[in-house]
Amino acid sequence: MKPPYCFLCHRDFHKEKGGDLVYFSDYVPLEEGMMGHSSGSEWFCPEHQAAANALAFKTSSEALLDLQREYGEFPPLPPFGPNPDHEARELSAGALMRKIVDIVRRITGRATPKDK
Ligand SMILES: [Zn+2]
Repeated sequence: MKPPYCFLCHRDFHKEKGGDLVYFSDYVPLEEGMMGHSSGSEWFCPEHQAAANALAFKTSSEALLDLQREYGEFPPLPPFGPNPDHEARELSAGALMRKIVDIVRRITGRATPKDK
């Protein structure tokens, strides 16, 4: 199951009172023993749950469009999973690049401008 982030505003409301799953017309329950998040059910924060419930007769994507028309679009949800450490990735790519440059310099005998 997805964590309770509002389908509309993407707010993490798991520590707040209220808000719940809304089951839309395209809801398909998971089969017995399956794990995951059933399609057609979405979390809504306390602020948007009532409006979402009123649109539960529509599919989840139709309801989202209606809600976005009413409330506007919100910034996208940050990616799940381990926090990608861009700086560390760039640092290791930089270290790798320095090694590659060193190898090329050794093979070609060429020096970089600061070595001259
Ligand atoms: Zn919300």
